[in-house]
Parts: sequence; structure tokens; C-alpha cells
Amino acid sequence: MGTEHHGLTRRSVLGASAGLATVSALGVGSATAAESASSVPDTGTHVVTLGTAAGPVVRGPRQGIATAIVVDGALYLVDVGLGVTRQLSETGMPVDRLRAILLTHLHSDHICELPGVLLYNWGPNVGGFDEPFPIVGPGRAGALPQGARPAVAPPTPGTEDLVGSTLSGYAYDVNIRVHDEGRTELDQLVQPRDIRLPEGVAAGPRAELAPEMSPLEVYRDEQVRVLAALVEHPPVFPCFGFRIETPHGVVALSGDTTEHPNVVRLARGADVLVHEAMYLDYYRDKGFTPEYLQHLANSHTDPAGAGRVAAAAGARHLVFSHLGGVATYEQWADPARESFGGTITVADDGQMFSLGGSR
Ligand SMILES: [Zn+2]
Ligand SMILES: [Zn+2]
Repeated sequence: MGTEHHGLTRRSVLGASAGLATVSALGVGSATAAESASSVPDTGTHVVTLGTAAGPVVRGPRQGIATAIVVDGALYLVDVGLGVTRQLSETGMPVDRLRAILLTHLHSDHICELPGVLLYNWGPNVGGFDEPFPIVGPGRAGALPQGARPAVAPPTPGTEDLVGSTLSGYAYDVNIRVHDEGRTELDQLVQPRDIRLPEGVAAGPRAELAPEMSPLEVYRDEQVRVLAALVEHPPVFPCFGFRIETPHGVVALSGDTTEHPNVVRLARGADVLVHEAMYLDYYRDKGFTPEYLQHLANSHTDPAGAGRVAAAAGARHLVFSHLGGVATYEQWADPARESFGGTITVADDGQMFSLGGSR
């Protein structure tokens, strides 16, 4: 393992444990597009790691971070990193049934293809969405970290601002297509929602970034409930992890974070925990500055830490995604095995994890 599977036609079952998540790779590449289009079952819950790389930098063939959760044929998307627009197509995601986009935080490696996802999947003419859906993500930070100079103003836009300015930046295209092609007004379909923290959570951009908190419901429909909690990704505020409760089980996503008790809360009893990981030795060997290495160590989780979180949560399957640095499969997975006895997978782009039967 540890090799990439881009361009391969591959639907083999890579691993399964009784009643637990099965793992398979969706075809990637035009030769498999037809097959992929029907390869996500329209019943059950399936997690697809569309892109698995940390960024914002290209250090190999992995696409930028984005994860799809397909629940009985409806699509929920967590983060929209580099390459997600193409990955949605090549893995056959049901973009015509997009129900929500969830953003963990506003670092560019998590949001840089928001325009692509919206503008390339807009309306039935392109096989895309034609019903309103929310984009749920962090609100305004309120302030930059102490000492930071606002190079661009206003300095701390939130999700509602981001979506609004994206639409206004593309206004000419949107207006032309509404007029010329009869598309539904995009601003009627896209409904941004800032996550509002409860009064009792004493957190802030210049205070504690991620105090322990009970996960907070941020989205619900007839089939899923989404909970969020602050996670620790200094100096970013706010930064969230998610817990998605489905009829077939629970999926948790760490977001970008240090090893943190709020991720344990989000992942309690989860069938699949998608956790970020940072392989610091890769950066040490590259001769980066001590300050940059310290930033990486302070704001991410090493593989052993992700294993401890999965074990503390009682999660069943730990899936590494948002991989920072380059390492072998064993270098990612082995440190996590020291504390976590469940299944561990270092995700590839386009890999599918299917939750077990109904409960
Ligand atoms: Zn990131
Ligand atoms: Zn980040």
C-alpha cells in the first residue's frame, strides 16, 4: 500500500471486518467514468475520501482535502479543497442531490474550490443541484491573532461573507447564465450559514481557541444530524470538527486539529473517524525553519496522536486523510496501532468506506 491509485480502474475490496466498514476504491479517470457513476450505492451510508492531501501546496498526486458522505443517495460534502470539482465527477458523486456543504475552517486548502463546486454543478443542464442547500461553516473570527497585520480587509470574513463575496465576484457569469440559459438564480440555491457558538463557550481568537465543549447541532434533515465542536488549530479560530449521525451509523471528521478531547467527543462510538495527520519527519528532513516546524507541530496531530483519539473515542475505523507531508503507509499507520486496536486505513483519493447495516 502507500501507492497512489490515480487513473486506475479499480473496484476491489481492500479490506473489511465483520459488520464494519468495507473499503473500496471508486474508479478515477475518464475510462471508468460510466462505471463510477453508478458505483456509489444509493442506499446505505458511504464515506468517500475525494481528496486526502493537506495544503496549500502540491507535494504529490493527492488531491486537496475533501470528503463526501453519501446517505441513501444524498450527498453531503465536507471541505472543498483543490481538485474536488473534478473528483466529484470522476467518482460519480450524486451532485444533483447535494444536501449540504460543511466547512471545517477557512484555510484555503479547505475552501479553494468552492467556486468550482458551485459553478460546475449548477443546475440540471450540467447534472447538478437545483434545490436549495446550506453551506455551514465558521463565522467571523472577530479579530486576527495578537500582532497580526491585516494585509487584506475586511480581515476576518466568515462563511456567509465568503459565499456572498464569491457570488458577487462571479456576478457577471451568474447573471448571464440566468438570463441566457434559464438557470435558477444561484443565490436562491446556495444558503450560507455561520455556525454560532453558544453563549457559554468561552472561546476566541485571542483567548482559548478550543475549550472543551459538548458538540452542538449545526444541521439536520430527515436523514442526518450534524454536530460540530471547536478543535484546536492555532492560530485559526474558529475551527471545527464534525459528527454526522446517519441511519446507518456515525461518521466523525476531525478537521485540522491537534490531538484534542473535543475530537474524542465528536467521535464517540463512531463507525468511521476521518482524522488528519502530520508526518513531521518529512518536514524535518527538508530543512524547514524551526518556526515553521513548530507551527506544524502545534497545529496538527501526529499519527500516534490520532490513534490515541480513536482509541479514547471507541471508534471502530480510523481513516487518515488530510495527510501533511509524504510518508509510507507504515509510517502513517504503525504509530497509531500502538494505542488503537480497530481498523486503520491511510486513505487514497476516491476511496469508499461503507458503513455496516442498519441499526
Ligand atoms: Zn488543512
Ligand atoms: Zn488548516
